Amino acid sequence: MHDLTCLIKGCQTRVYAPAGTHSICRDHFLAYLTWRRRKGPQMFMKYAGMSMEERDPIVAEWANTIRVEEVPTAAAPKS
Ligand SMILES: [Zn+2]
Repeated sequence: MHDLTCLIKGCQTRVYAPAGTHSICRDHFLAYLTWRRRKGPQMFMKYAGMSMEERDPIVAEWANTIRVEEVPTAAAPKS
C-alpha cells in the first residue's frame, strides 16, 4: 500500500483496504461494498475477476457518488 490516508477527498482516516490501485478507510470500504452489492451479483462476480488497474474506473465511479452525497444540493429544486 502506498497511500497513508483514504482515497476519498477530504477523508483523513487511515487506510484499511485496497480499492483498485489505491486504498480506502474502513468506513468507505464498507460504503463501497454496499454500493457494489446494490449493483447486483453480476458486478460482484465481474469485480472479483478484475485486476487492480481494471478496478480503478469502478472505484472512480463510486467515489463520484460519495462526493455528490457530501456536496450540498444547492441546484436541486425545493419541494
Ligand atoms: Zn475514507
